[in-house]
Amino acid sequence: MTAPVFIGARIYRGSSYGTHHPLSIPRVPTVTDLSRALGWLPSEQYRTSPCAKPDALHGFHAPDYIDALQTAEATLKPNLDFDLGSLSNPVFPEVYRRPATAAGGGLLAAELVRHGGVAYNPGGGTHHGLPDRANGFCYINEPVLTIQHLLAQGLTRVAYVDIDAHHCDGVAVGFHGSEEVRMISVHEDGRWPFTGDVDDTAGGAAINIPVPRGFNDTEFTLILNEVILPAVEAFRPEAIYLQCGADAVTEDPLSRLNLSNRCHVAAVKALRPLSPRFIVSGGGGYNPWSVGRAWTCVWATLAGQTIPDRLPTEAHAILAELTWTRKARPTADMLTTLLDPPRDGPVSEHVNDVVRRLKSRRG
Ligand SMILES: [Zn+2]
Repeated sequence: MTAPVFIGARIYRGSSYGTHHPLSIPRVPTVTDLSRALGWLPSEQYRTSPCAKPDALHGFHAPDYIDALQTAEATLKPNLDFDLGSLSNPVFPEVYRRPATAAGGGLLAAELVRHGGVAYNPGGGTHHGLPDRANGFCYINEPVLTIQHLLAQGLTRVAYVDIDAHHCDGVAVGFHGSEEVRMISVHEDGRWPFTGDVDDTAGGAAINIPVPRGFNDTEFTLILNEVILPAVEAFRPEAIYLQCGADAVTEDPLSRLNLSNRCHVAAVKALRPLSPRFIVSGGGGYNPWSVGRAWTCVWATLAGQTIPDRLPTEAHAILAELTWTRKARPTADMLTTLLDPPRDGPVSEHVNDVVRRLKSRRG
């Protein structure tokens, strides 16, 4: 089996959704630079993501929407028929090429794991994208296209696990009622997009695990062990796609969850042995320090590298040079370490209840 592959691209460097957008911050460049500084990105494990051609997107997206997205990139004019140019989904100079590169990375990941293996596409994970419009900072739904590509290779069982703070509404549209794809999502209850209720099974294809504010590492571990891992194991997937959004950590401004990045590491470690093919993407993550650290920990785990207790000078400098339009500043530990301290706590009645209900459904 070949070594795990990291899929990156230059387009993530410098392109931005605009100064006031949560995605004005660098994310993939931080992970790439930290991984390089730590010696974790030898050239044979790095692949440049291609930019997907429009035809490659039509398996999920309407051609007239993809046309509109390319036109928006060329003209920089909004087109609100497709929600292009709204506050959430601004039009910017790379508005087609950047998400199409994330999708191209996913399609490449599917190719790379065709005969088994691990691929990491931190620019992917755009799980809100809808067939005919932009949605929730997502223009093209990379997870759906990537999983469709796996199925087109002849696979018949793909598990999709999503630990982003938000429900994967676009992916749920893509695989509603599917017998080939099992979607499992942990997300904050009562938060946008307000879908993914515990009783919503996406036509039998999904397990939704809404969790309350303050959701901690102890609760995550419970859900991982009692719900996610048994469900994935029972499905016997030929491939696992993990959407590893980093917005459920305490420092993230777009959720009220309280995880440490140890949960992301734990999910990667526990899921890896359950299938011969493993694709991991990014997703949300809106604090420049916490998202860069979490996703670098994910790559370290996939690549079998040891995360150091304290960062060497060159890696520390990459974190120290990051800036943010928000006032919140990182703690000293966030500049000198990668792994958060554990954020354990009591298990809330809400979490116990969700676990009980999902276990009783399984029977
Ligand atoms: Zn999110």
